Amino acid sequence: MAENRRLFFALTLPSEVQQQIIHWRAAQFPAEAGRPVAAANLHLTLAFLGDVSDEKRQALCRLAGRISQPGFTLQLDDAGQWLRSSVVWLGPRQAPRGLLQLANMLRSQAARSGCYQSPQPFHPHVTLYRNAIRSVSLPAPGFSWQFRVNEFSLYESLFEQGRTRYQALEHWSLTNKEE
Ligand code: ATP
Ligand code: MG
Repeated sequence: MAENRRLFFALTLPSEVQQQIIHWRAAQFPAEAGRPVAAANLHLTLAFLGDVSDEKRQALCRLAGRISQPGFTLQLDDAGQWLRSSVVWLGPRQAPRGLLQLANMLRSQAARSGCYQSPQPFHPHVTLYRNAIRSVSLPAPGFSWQFRVNEFSLYESLFEQGRTRYQALEHWSLTNKEE
């Protein structure tokens, strides 16, 4: 029997933005701030699915392929810390409507397909540090990265040799599909 895979839908950050963020992070935060997320792992989760069978993954992919909405511009200009999950994050001060629409659609498709869905509202964020110390001082406002989002992806989360790695399984373009 095939094993379940740990899956999530996410936005990938452009690689130049990933690089800019890690350089900025190194200059802004002390080394003891927490466990820095690797550049290639910087992403924005739209819907976490948990452990999913092949059959359910295929059904979720079919539903994702029916999503019809244009791309949008995402601006990361806010940072914060969640003490409960010991995370330091970057996010948009004002989430674009297209982002909320996409995440809501994927989350409701997942829920209707019987996947675990977090009862928490969607808080768009890019995790910068895990296991962060409680006294991290957050960067002063004024930083900002802006990029166009024209696709979203399904990722598998793999834990290998002591590290988490994400493997992209499928991508979908954001376009208005004609009926
Ligand atoms: P690790 O847990 O190994 O340090 P990670 O958190 O990035 O790394 P996963 O736990 O597989 O790896 O999570 C993949 C993505 O899904 C991350 O963006 C994570 O924040 C998100 N995620 C994980 N668990 C949940 C959950 N219970 N509810 C909502 N989002 C989650
Ligand atoms: Mg995790």
